[in-house]
Amino acid sequence: MKQSYLTLRTFQQKFKSDDECRQHLFSIRFPNGFRCPSCGHDKYYLISERVLFQCTACRHQSSLIAGTILHKTRTPLRIWFWALFLVAHDKRGISALALARELDVSYKTAWLMLHKIRYAMGSRDEQYVLSGIVEMDETYFGGPGMVARKTGQHLIGGQLSCAKPMKKQYTLKFKPLLFRKY
Ligand SMILES: [Zn+2]
Repeated sequence: MKQSYLTLRTFQQKFKSDDECRQHLFSIRFPNGFRCPSCGHDKYYLISERVLFQCTACRHQSSLIAGTILHKTRTPLRIWFWALFLVAHDKRGISALALARELDVSYKTAWLMLHKIRYAMGSRDEQYVLSGIVEMDETYFGGPGMVARKTGQHLIGGQLSCAKPMKKQYTLKFKPLLFRKY
């Protein structure tokens, strides 16, 4: 199925404020409207910058971001959302430096966000098994030691994609491909 392309402009218009991001998280956490996880009551108070909800009946508190990579973050939600967009859209793998520049945050903040996002994406990918025809492109990283003959870079791994579903399943193992030393 062909997916429609989401531009940064469209994404930023959709999530231009923390409140819009919170509403989106709310719709994921409570797709059928608020239900207290403890007693099932449907009335709540908003507390703690609108990411924490307290049940009016039993006072159980539900967080929109507890147990996620946003847990205890002090970075605005919209910055997180834009970071997720930038990381997901750059197939070469955006750097922490570029992320810091694009989002106008410190390098340390960008680095932490990037690692948490990568961890979350990796954890999700682990749930899937590749099948069918798997196509692979190489990617290169520079550095001393073993280098590629033409480019002077390491060949580390690749990007995978599937085409034409087949009955048989294959397992792929990544192995760094090293070139002779100069
Ligand atoms: Zn309750």
